Amino acid sequence: MKDIQPILNKALDGERISAEDATALLESKDFAKIGVAANEIRKRKNDENIVTYIIDRNINYTNVCNVVCTFCAFYRRPGKPDTYVHSIEEIEKRIDETIALGGTGVLMQGGLHPDFNIEWYEDLLSTLHKKYPNFQLHCFSPPEIHNISLISGLDYESIMRRLKAAGLNSMPGGGGEILDDEVRKRVSTKCTTQEWLDVMRAVHKVGLKSTATMMFGIGDNVSHRVKHLQRVRDVQDETGGFTAFIPWTFQRENTALGRKITEEPTGIDYLKMLAVSRIFFDNIQHIQSSWLTQGIRLGQAALGFGADDMGSIMIEENVVSAAGASNEANEKELRYQISEAGYRPQQRDILYNYIDREESASLDERKSMPLKNLSVAFAD
Ligand code: SF4
Repeated sequence: MKDIQPILNKALDGERISAEDATALLESKDFAKIGVAANEIRKRKNDENIVTYIIDRNINYTNVCNVVCTFCAFYRRPGKPDTYVHSIEEIEKRIDETIALGGTGVLMQGGLHPDFNIEWYEDLLSTLHKKYPNFQLHCFSPPEIHNISLISGLDYESIMRRLKAAGLNSMPGGGGEILDDEVRKRVSTKCTTQEWLDVMRAVHKVGLKSTATMMFGIGDNVSHRVKHLQRVRDVQDETGGFTAFIPWTFQRENTALGRKITEEPTGIDYLKMLAVSRIFFDNIQHIQSSWLTQGIRLGQAALGFGADDMGSIMIEENVVSAAGASNEANEKELRYQISEAGYRPQQRDILYNYIDREESASLDERKSMPLKNLSVAFAD
């Protein structure tokens, strides 16, 4: 087994590690040593006393989906009896509930609906933006943008300009899974690696930020995972538009792929991937713990392996929970886990600005408050 200390020293000296180095780290059994280095780099990159989290809601506006991903338990084929599309009133009701809980935004994604063109998405965003001008709309993903492109015949940049003008604030990095077509083509008929990366280039080109994600354990090996890291880092070198990287492991329950896969990533695989991500991405500011998929305790442990953010309290999430992840946490629990790990919990918005919340404000007052005035009333 290769000695990994020179690689870790290189990273600790501020030098960029290569794909070959990342491979050696992921193949190493010395995950504790990798974690220590990642944690040191995390402390230099972000406030070492603070771990951030966001209060938002994941609204899945439709489960109708035109493609097949064998790792997905959420989608329903068009025309099936248990399909749904949320009405604008239903979405607004969920946003009101989110604001009442101190939420600052919504993460809205759905299946790839065969009939929704650019105008449908523009209407949705502009209606919400008009009613909630200060509430952040963090919506869609590269596969949805690619689907709009197929339906409306527009290029990615034109789509992103129009969605931004309609009120989109930023885009989640969903649908990345493993950015290597050898793996993607085996498990999904949605957009290719190149298309995913090109959508992200367009998102950043129009001045929006996004996150980048990775879901591993879908038949990929270390080489595929490293290619994924490299491709995301290359785009970030070009655009600087990724705010955070969020890796997690495949949730197998109720999925066609889950019945076939015999080897699942372990907790150690997850922590190692997280730590290697922190070390590899010298150009991405934040690494997010995915407690929703990994469980709150492993999510908490991730804070010692390079993560500086705990993500969302997740008031509603259907895609991951359909595949068997049933982890729940309210704000109090999330703050407790962060505090017990030795950090000060800090609410943030979608763009990682700190939020200080006025607990006594009424729902109507909160709806009309500028974000900067919504602020923390917690004692710690
Ligand atoms: S992961 Fe997304 S694109 Fe794939 S089947 Fe599920 S809803 Fe559709």
